[in-house]
Amino acid sequence: MESLLGKTENELVEFAKVIGEAPFRGKQIYQAIYARRAMDIAGMTELSKDLREKLNSIARVTETQIVNAFFSVDGTRRYLLQLGDGREVEAVFMPEERRDTICISCQVGCAVGCGFCMTAQLGVKRSMTAGEIISQVVIVLNEVYGVGVEPPHGTNLVFMGMGEAFLNYNEVMKSIRIMADEKGMGISPKRVTVSTSGIIPRIYDFAREPFRPRLAISLSATTEEQRTRLMPINSKYTLAELMKACREYPLGERERLTFEYVMLDGVNDSDEDARRLVKLLNGIRAKVNLIPHNPAPELPYRASPMERILSFQKILVDKDVPAFIRRPRGQDISAACGQLAARRQANG
Ligand code: SAH
Ligand code: SF4
Repeated sequence: MESLLGKTENELVEFAKVIGEAPFRGKQIYQAIYARRAMDIAGMTELSKDLREKLNSIARVTETQIVNAFFSVDGTRRYLLQLGDGREVEAVFMPEERRDTICISCQVGCAVGCGFCMTAQLGVKRSMTAGEIISQVVIVLNEVYGVGVEPPHGTNLVFMGMGEAFLNYNEVMKSIRIMADEKGMGISPKRVTVSTSGIIPRIYDFAREPFRPRLAISLSATTEEQRTRLMPINSKYTLAELMKACREYPLGERERLTFEYVMLDGVNDSDEDARRLVKLLNGIRAKVNLIPHNPAPELPYRASPMERILSFQKILVDKDVPAFIRRPRGQDISAACGQLAARRQANG
């Protein structure tokens, strides 16, 4: 079966031609799946009955399906989704007063192997296609607001679910370009954040993209040795090289580079670490998100106590490095940062 989601407007026009239809049918399909978020070919009444039948016999809007949804006391929702080949990924919806955020996956599992992250324990099964990436957003918006209903406030997207976006660069970028189109989903790249564990060659590629989203770097350590222990990718792409790439990264006028730092009790949360972090960020227009570690029974780390996180934050702020403490979301349903492992239960 072909999946329609993930095709650009041109690709759908081509597709219409290939199946013996007029090119404008491709544009109608484009409108239906991206602007109206239609999930069901039979319901696309702007297409003739014959065409709908023909389409139905060869294609689906998407093969992604919801397996289960988990609702947190804080309003966060975690969706366990099954892809066409039976593999499972997760997407998380986080309501916010001013805007909502959807956290999406880009790979089934992850190869990077960070010691504090549940996704790492899955290893990587495969990368997701642009269509599979987009299907998460379409499905979550339809679930939360209803099919085709315009979200009341804008939607932010973060590539902070399962997987490393820069190890699936082309499909991630394709999905972002498709979702940005105002004739379709209209999610501006300004509202999209891509997070990377530091795949340096792709940081340079990303810097050259004409319409690039925001970039977040997962740092979580302040020395080579410490970072290699926590994030083994550091032995290939070293902290020194990573900071050089960050320094050379062309920021927009009011843009800041976001650094994420998972706070692990007694591991990377000392005052000395904070002072080293200030030094590392010297000369970079940066913002730091301190993420209290979200624990799981399988993970060998504990979250830093809040007083520790607060004094770490104070050292940064006193040196004019903006630093924010991330409030954990959906911890009770295993939906928080680093807890995504395609689990079938809410907890455990
Ligand atoms: N693979 C990408 C994006 C997904 S992880 C990356 O690593 O950047 C999103 C963020 O969650 C990263 O900053 C990561 O360091 C953080 N994270 C991973 N495991 C965590 C955990 N158990 N608790 C808190 N944050 C975690
Ligand atoms: Fe992969 Fe990110 Fe988890 Fe590291 S933190 S294992 S890069 S998903």
